[in-house]
Amino acid sequence: MSIFSKIAEGEIPSYKCAENEEFYAFLDINPMVKGHTLVIPRREVDYIFDMEDDELARFEVFAKKVAVAIKAAFPCVKVGQAVLGLEVPHAHIHLIPMQSEKDMNFANSKMSLSAEEMKEIAEKIYKEFSK
Ligand code: AMP
Repeated sequence: MSIFSKIAEGEIPSYKCAENEEFYAFLDINPMVKGHTLVIPRREVDYIFDMEDDELARFEVFAKKVAVAIKAAFPCVKVGQAVLGLEVPHAHIHLIPMQSEKDMNFANSKMSLSAEEMKEIAEKIYKEFSK
């Protein structure tokens, strides 16, 4: 089982931002900015473009709802979306509240936030998602 499958199953703790039967969203543990969220399918698949068209479409629609919640919780110019998957072999979309294009530079040094702060951020996004 991939580390992200274990997260979606609750076997490994995460800061939950949103979920439904098929998809799960949680905070990136080393965020580029506050509100940096990962969205994953519960089904284990490594490469996003190996997903079937229907599943990929539902994945993107779910990611859109999470992005709307992120923007409401953390006002920003736009929420940027990126797919890398170079580190973790389980498809995931990065959603990043952007103030400028610099916020999307994955070569930037990452933030390390306290557990309390991570919890607060995730709760804010979850509350918006649940509205
Ligand atoms: P990539 O596969 O290149 O898209 O990078 C994987 C991302 O997952 C990185 O931004 C990591 O900080 C993040 N990450 C790895 N392990 C965890 C975890 N246990 N919880 C939350 N985020 C994680």
